[in-house]
Amino acid sequence: MYEALPVPYGLVRFGVAPDHPEVKNVIHKFASIAEDARFRFVGNVNIGRDLQFAELKPHYDAIVLSYGAQEDQHLGIPGEESIKNVFSARAFVGWYNGSPEYRNLNPDLTSSDTAVVVGQGNVALDVARTLLSPVDDIARTDITSHAVEALRKSKIKHVHLIGRRGPLQAAFTAKELREMIALPDTKLNIDLNLVHSQIKADAEALAKDRPRRRLMELLIKGATKTFSEEPSKSWTLQFLRSPVELVPHPETNALKAVLLEKNTLQGSPQSPKAVGTGQIEELSTGLLLRSIGYRSVPFRGVPFDSRKGLIPNVKGRVSDEKDSASGLYVSGWLKRGPTGVITATMYDAIETATSIVEDVQAGNLKSQVASKGSDGFESLKDLLKERGANPISFKDWESIDKAEITAGEAKGKPREKIVDVQSMLKIVAAGRAE
Ligand SMILES: Cc1cc2nc3c(=O)[nH]c(=O)nc-3n(C[C@H](O)[C@H](O)[C@H](O)COP(=O)(O)OP(=O)(O)OC[C@H]3O[C@@H](n4cnc5c(N)ncnc54)[C@H](O)[C@@H]3O)c2cc1C
Repeated sequence: MYEALPVPYGLVRFGVAPDHPEVKNVIHKFASIAEDARFRFVGNVNIGRDLQFAELKPHYDAIVLSYGAQEDQHLGIPGEESIKNVFSARAFVGWYNGSPEYRNLNPDLTSSDTAVVVGQGNVALDVARTLLSPVDDIARTDITSHAVEALRKSKIKHVHLIGRRGPLQAAFTAKELREMIALPDTKLNIDLNLVHSQIKADAEALAKDRPRRRLMELLIKGATKTFSEEPSKSWTLQFLRSPVELVPHPETNALKAVLLEKNTLQGSPQSPKAVGTGQIEELSTGLLLRSIGYRSVPFRGVPFDSRKGLIPNVKGRVSDEKDSASGLYVSGWLKRGPTGVITATMYDAIETATSIVEDVQAGNLKSQVASKGSDGFESLKDLLKERGANPISFKDWESIDKAEITAGEAKGKPREKIVDVQSMLKIVAAGRAE
């Protein structure tokens, strides 16, 4: 398994919210697979930079591409790329989860009491929960210390989540909504009239859709929750709104406001389209995070469907290949598009693995390795060395893992993630010298 970073686990480490440790338990399963003598982790090797795909291919009988969706969707509105304190949720999440790429993001959480998240999925809710949770609770998780420091100083008390369609079309799920409703000293604002009118308009379909009905009941319960004292914090689900422009402070170029266009819904109630009304309203905010989805990037020499943003495949077999038994497979977000939780990702990994086993059993996989006398990674080692790469083994990762857990113990946390690659490599070097 080739991995660009010295550490394994992808978005389970860098995406999943720090206060959801139970979700990360899947790591134990991954780690037990890594114990198998037939498995090899080759970390700190970026395919496309340290090794080209074409160089890798002759050394393996089968290759599974599973590099996820490394980019995020943009809003495409004026000010998005130039105004300060406007980020993707991916970057913001990566910053608090210790991704080396985003460790220097430095979001300013002090110059405004309001943050805007564009999107109404579970990632948007993760971000809102992190911004509004009591910091002492968050500080006990594996969140990075730099994020805890910034959250302690944070002035953000109000988070608006913007969705272009209505409550029935929101993408978050009941568990995440319940967690938001349970936040202490935090009230939920929604347009209850809109919720009731959508429920009424779509009553027939809702009668057959228990999870969605439950979600609507929860929304109403959350918005009508009573507090003994007026809460100091709030989160607002703004439905039927699309951001159309970001407004900077003229002197500092920091974000001052977002202009939102009101939408109306057209088409079938099951899958309505948001259509702009031309009515614009201004929402003051000092931080904007877009959470509207991810995008996979093509790999040179591999077919790619740029409209769907994935590698075309049939049950994980890359389907554009002229030779149907080319030994090229795909799995994860790259296979079915950047949506779905870990369970869904595991199910389609099983589907891809089943395709490989079937191809082996049917004798369809020509052994390129045997015919070329190659020995997988062993045959690529020298080339990597020549290029100055420093491949990391699973044992090396275990040194990093141990150092993180030890550093976390001192702070009452499960781990303190090491956030830069150089420091990771120093720990590896020390581990190898022992
Ligand atoms: C913010 C966020 C929160 C989430 N929270 C949850 C949750 O609470 N529960 C849940 O079930 N699911 C959650 N998910 C979804 C879950 O993370 C995904 O289903 C899953 O991680 C997708 O797996 P993947 O292998 O396709 O991609 P990834 O997990 O992204 O793994 C891809 C790996 O490929 C590596 N890579 C990329 N390019 C290269 C290259 N050129 N060379 C070598 N290696 C490369 C990356 O470093 C990465 O390690 C969340 C997702 C996000 C974005």
